[in-house]
Amino acid sequence: MHIYVVGNITVDEIWRCASLPQKGESLHGEKTAQDIGGKGANQAIVLSRCGLPVTLIAGSGNDYYGQWIHNTLSQESLLFYPQYAISTHSDTSIIFTTEDDDNAIMTTTAAAEALTLDIIEPLLADACPGDILLQQGNFSAAKTGSLFALARRKQMVTVFNPSPVHPAFAALWPLVDIAVLNEHEARLLHPDPATTLIVETRGALGARLYHHQGIIDVAAEPTTVVDTTGAGDTFLAVMLASALRRETRPDELALRHASRAAALTISRSGTLQAFPDANILASLLQNNA
Ligand code: ATP
Repeated sequence: MHIYVVGNITVDEIWRCASLPQKGESLHGEKTAQDIGGKGANQAIVLSRCGLPVTLIAGSGNDYYGQWIHNTLSQESLLFYPQYAISTHSDTSIIFTTEDDDNAIMTTTAAAEALTLDIIEPLLADACPGDILLQQGNFSAAKTGSLFALARRKQMVTVFNPSPVHPAFAALWPLVDIAVLNEHEARLLHPDPATTLIVETRGALGARLYHHQGIIDVAAEPTTVVDTTGAGDTFLAVMLASALRRETRPDELALRHASRAAALTISRSGTLQAFPDANILASLLQNNA
């Protein structure tokens, strides 16, 4: 079994300022962090740290950040394609934060958009029945749907985390086996529990599993909240890994494993640097309590 994550990879720059910039204003600030981010990369990295074979298909640009992305990912146990740079800037999230926890975020999407189906489809040529295709919401509904349809033809298992959300994603549920989404996304997209196994994350309230036999609630793990960035990505990846390692669909134990891992990510600042490492994840996944 192999997991293909098709999505985005970004460089996250976090800038702290006294107040958010206003129209026409110049102000001093401090760059407090630079880290790899992007939901595709985040989920692929955590899945691979859980010991599963992962290919990340995501676009990086032909700039300094593109090289940095490749160097950083070469330290992770995953395959990263395409190996060449896309002829655009790497996608970047500029995150302005203030002392009173206000923030404003600007994200570029040129590299994700430049990753066309012509580039992606050959990279899925070796995918076999039973392999996983995991996508997030960074592509158009048309591109996302085409890839899920290809996965269905290959008898792969399809997993969708529709974030950032778009109303057009609601048409994709017939192509999706497992949906992982937060309450806001669920309200907008209405996945059908009769055909799709649904995991709804509910922030500090925990997570809820809907399947044909009913609903299971799992509480969030108590933690010190330092930075919730990447909580949802950690949750999804560890939940999927827990189930796949036991050759089952996401269940109550998978949600418990995921909640514990997400709590660890929340207790640290940053994105990639906040994710639990392979040793911590191995012992977490061995605990069946
Ligand atoms: P994001 O996109 O910000 O990463 P999300 O909206 O996809 O997050 P959430 O529902 O906010 O996902 O969080 C995912 C999981 O992380 C929750 O189901 C829960 O297990 C854990 N979590 C989130 N916030 C908290 C918190 N304050 N305390 C403990 N656990 C939390």
